[in-house]
Amino acid sequence: VQPTTAEIRQRFLDFFVQKGHYLMPSSSLIPRDDPTVLLTTAGMQQMIPFFLGRETPPATRLTSVQKCFRTTDIDKVGNERTLTFFEMLGNFSVGDYFKREAIAYAWEFLTQVVKIPPERLHPTVHPEDDEAPRYWTEITGIPDEAIVRLEDNWWGPPGAAGPCGPDSEIYYDRGVEHGCGRPDCKPGCECERFLEIWNLVFMQFYQDLDGKRTPLPRKNIDTGMGLERLTMVLQGKQSVFETDVFRAIIDRFATLAGTAYGRDARTDTSLRVIADHGRALVFLAADGVLPSNEGRGYIFRRILRRAVRHGRLLGLEKPFLAEAADTVIELMGGHYSELRQHRDRIVALLSMEEKKFNQTLSTGLQLLTELLAELKERGATVIPGVEAFKLYDTHGFPLELTQEIAAEQGFTVDVEDFQEAMRQQQERSRAASPFAQARNDQQLAEVAARVTPTTFLGYETTSASGTVV
Ligand code: ATP
Ligand code: MG
Ligand code: MG
Ligand code: MG
Repeated sequence: VQPTTAEIRQRFLDFFVQKGHYLMPSSSLIPRDDPTVLLTTAGMQQMIPFFLGRETPPATRLTSVQKCFRTTDIDKVGNERTLTFFEMLGNFSVGDYFKREAIAYAWEFLTQVVKIPPERLHPTVHPEDDEAPRYWTEITGIPDEAIVRLEDNWWGPPGAAGPCGPDSEIYYDRGVEHGCGRPDCKPGCECERFLEIWNLVFMQFYQDLDGKRTPLPRKNIDTGMGLERLTMVLQGKQSVFETDVFRAIIDRFATLAGTAYGRDARTDTSLRVIADHGRALVFLAADGVLPSNEGRGYIFRRILRRAVRHGRLLGLEKPFLAEAADTVIELMGGHYSELRQHRDRIVALLSMEEKKFNQTLSTGLQLLTELLAELKERGATVIPGVEAFKLYDTHGFPLELTQEIAAEQGFTVDVEDFQEAMRQQQERSRAASPFAQARNDQQLAEVAARVTPTTFLGYETTSASGTVV
């Protein structure tokens, strides 16, 4: 029998607890005092104060499964392995063990606990790291020449001072039939053959602003493995969307739309997008993110509207996101109790924002279709920024959505022009009255307050962040 996502998550945590690690709960998707990122993107984020020696950790060995969201991956969703929201499994050492143990633990977990055939696993290292390949060979018997050196295997603050070091990524070989066929196809190749599952980061240097590196007195380990990717491997599936959790979400939508997964490539892409985005929205709403026109609130709005549009492509005319919320809460509320706790708020927020966009989506889509036809006739391939801005301002189309629809027909958007139109609009409304947006924000805050008796953290934090557009 195949292990479920929930069982795999538990096996990982149990394994590291057994190896003396303290189980840290996932932190919120809204980072605690970290103004540099809008949303939590990795398990190590909440460990940074420990690594820097600013706070004392509950133990020097830690493990967690962390809720993550990566804005940078939004456009890739739909391929076999990329999600916006995903769960990151991790083990951490704060000046405790280092490379040898980190490698040994990873190997033991993958080959002994979840029993992946060793010949499918390919460790990679940084070209300047001589220790990691030595340990890999000692521990696994993999010959040195089979260990791939990747320039990318480096973690550190780009252009800033801070801790850094080489990393070692573990790839799973899905088989030649998934490969690009090039003779130099190997782990790190862009094709679908080698799936990156786990990254072990060896935090061993401090880099100053001039780029000079000095060894850290206390070295740290930070690892991250995508639960959905590991599950895809262990359940023998061709994509993360075919694993138990995602299949259940997708099937629910497919039924609603009167179709089935696996019938048609375009339908499948839309089903994948709404499954990923729907799940992400539930988690964002549970952690107190509210839709808005800036910062993380804009990310929320952007993926919600993208989901609604893909719903339309599937023929879903009526609101469907509340349905997504139910399914996700049912499937994942066991481990993430905040989903059950905030169910009413989640459903209210998703429904309200979906309804709002539904009202303007049809008109906006029609205008855009006409515009594209007109431009095509004139032989133009660029949508003027003012037009994209009109769609944004009047019909609630995030710029990225207009760009996506445009790209499907070979068009691009004049982004500079768009931003100029946005700037002018902001100036006009600043001069006029600040009430319109305030009213909108207040309405959201009221909905949130009505459905949550507990303190609502999202509101203040949303408006504090910078504009994303
Ligand atoms: P990729 O190269 O696939 O974008 P990454 O190198 O950016 O991944 P890391 O920052 O090393 O990823 O994160 C650690 C692990 O988290 C990865 O090895 C992968 O298993 C998982 N992961 C990262 N991004 C995603 C994503 N967008 N969807 C699902 N899992 C992910
Ligand atoms: Mg990435
Ligand atoms: Mg990578
Ligand atoms: Mg990586």
